[in-house]
Amino acid sequence: MNRRSFLKWTNFAGLTTALPLKLFGLNSAHPAETQASRSAAQTQTKNAASPETILLKDYRPISIYKVPVTTIAKAKYPVIDMHSHPYAKTAQEIDQWVRNMDEVGIEKTIILTMATGEEFDRIHEKYSKYPERFEMWCGFDFTDYDKPGFGPAAVKELERCQQAGARGVGEIHDKGKGLRSGKSNAPGMHPDDPRVDALFEKCGELGLPISLHVADPIWMYQKMDRHNDGLMNAYYWRLDNQPGIVDLSGMVDILERTLARHPNTTFVACHFANLDYDLARLGEVLERHPNLYADISARYAETAPIPRFTAAFYARHADRLVYGTDMGFDQHMYHITFRILESLDEHFYEIDQFSYHWSLNGLGLDDAILKQVYHDNAANLLSARRPRSA
Ligand SMILES: [Zn+2]
Repeated sequence: MNRRSFLKWTNFAGLTTALPLKLFGLNSAHPAETQASRSAAQTQTKNAASPETILLKDYRPISIYKVPVTTIAKAKYPVIDMHSHPYAKTAQEIDQWVRNMDEVGIEKTIILTMATGEEFDRIHEKYSKYPERFEMWCGFDFTDYDKPGFGPAAVKELERCQQAGARGVGEIHDKGKGLRSGKSNAPGMHPDDPRVDALFEKCGELGLPISLHVADPIWMYQKMDRHNDGLMNAYYWRLDNQPGIVDLSGMVDILERTLARHPNTTFVACHFANLDYDLARLGEVLERHPNLYADISARYAETAPIPRFTAAFYARHADRLVYGTDMGFDQHMYHITFRILESLDEHFYEIDQFSYHWSLNGLGLDDAILKQVYHDNAANLLSARRPRSA
């Protein structure tokens, strides 16, 4: 448990002798209450439900184990965050973000704007005070993707964005219904569609890597029933009720066909390509396609329940995984990611951060692996780009 939950726990434990029944939300006719414990108990009771009616979404277990708790306020090596978004809206917020990056050890953050046109230019301008700390990646414009002749205009806008400062493309989504880049949609057109060829080829030519998000976590495709292991979070993002959607496995096949079609273009599959539940398959995909990296963003909670298998996967593919967050710019958020990657802590909860009800474990990655994932792989990927034309 972290420091905050430990304090909460000691508080809570103090009540148990006086109020054993209240703790479990049961009514006691004659509890031996003191004034202090009464008001604490009232606060507790407000949030408490009978065990018969506690909802999974309200479940907040507190770890009881007396095991090491590691606080990591700064990453062990300088970090490149390959997956973030323009969360900071004002100049003050951007300054604050940079201060947070300094405190926690983030050297550079890649901002996936998903935007083109004026919207891209506006975001680029907003972050231009810190050209060494933020990189702006643009989106694709899918306007008229369903009309003959689609392609040249989209390629032209891509070239314009590159001239305006875009250093990559992303985050481009396809959760099974077709491509999306921010507000621009192409229902039914997947990344392996010949209509997208010209865009991906141009990215290769211009040295723009593409951050591509395919599918979503497996629990979101499964029945929302009592067997669904990730129910608490999956329910909010459910895809099981979307008829005609390409499933996760089908989307990974589409990703592989896309990678094979464009061997001279570099892709970063977001979130372990959503194969966090089947890392062996992701390993095969990485081995088949040297033009692919995977970012680890926003899949900490999905991999921390299986720390030994996950750490072995990191060791095997340490040269192809890149750090990312995708979760705002709060310092505590960064600390949680460091704790999961670096520590060997066991059975801790971060339910409010990740929305799953599972307990988590640190992966305890070796220094050499940490250095690659935090920094070196991303640095290689970014420096392999052709220099921007003047
Ligand atoms: Zn994202």
